[in-house]
This record gives sequence, C-alpha cells and structure tokens, in this order.
Amino acid sequence: MNVREVETEREFLARLEHGADWREELEELAAAEDLDAAWFTAMGAVQDAELWYYDQDDFEYKAARFEEPLEVAACVGNISLLEGELFAHTHAVLSRRSGQALAGHLDRATVFAGEVYVCELDTTLEREHDDATDLDLWL
Ligand code: ZN
Repeated sequence: MNVREVETEREFLARLEHGADWREELEELAAAEDLDAAWFTAMGAVQDAELWYYDQDDFEYKAARFEEPLEVAACVGNISLLEGELFAHTHAVLSRRSGQALAGHLDRATVFAGEVYVCELDTTLEREHDDATDLDLWL
C-alpha cells in the first residue's frame, strides 16, 4: 500500500460548460487554478459518453460508447500528473431514462450540464507505469 497524509488547500465549485467535454473541463479548471493534486465529485447530465472498462486478463481498456442523453448520477475522480500533463482520472455512474445504470472510467462525454466540487491537496500526485497492472498509478 502506498499511503500519504495530505491536507486540503483551496476548494472550488464549478459549473461545466454546455457542449464541452466533461473531462477536458476538469483538466482546464486544474490548469487555470494550478491544481496538480486534487479530488473532485460532480453530478449533472451528459449528451453522450464513452466509458472504459479495464480488462484485468488482457491488461487493456475496452471502450463502450453511448449516444444518448444520460444523467450523471455520481462522478468522482482526482487530478494528477500523467507524463507531465494534468490528467483528470474520472469515474462515473450514468443513468438512462429508465433508471438503468451504466458505469465506468469516463474517457469522454459531452456536457449537458454539470456541477463540480474540487478540493486541492497539498501533495504531488504523479503517475508512473505499474508492472503488476500495466496501469499508470500514483508513485
Ligand atoms: Zn479509471
């Protein structure tokens, strides 16, 4: 286990821009406010989405695209550095009109509306390749 104690610093509330990409909005906020380590939660709605599922046997992400309006029932993630770039690692539970849930690693989605809370952390979160999982995990 890799453990560190952190303290919270600045906190932000943001409303995402209609028509923008959900994850890019979070990365733009991180860049604008110089956040290289942060935790966020969000909710809202998207017009479409691409969710990734990590196949633990193939060590590959499998993408699933949804071209339909979806509620963002819950979204959680963090901001870290991946190859020197700000990366918003984003997971979401999305729901259909029927209430059926879709969930996974959110790669992209077009914002219909979104509300976000972001908390800056006093640490550096850098990702590096991990041999056991073939994922880019925190150092
Ligand atoms: Zn993920």
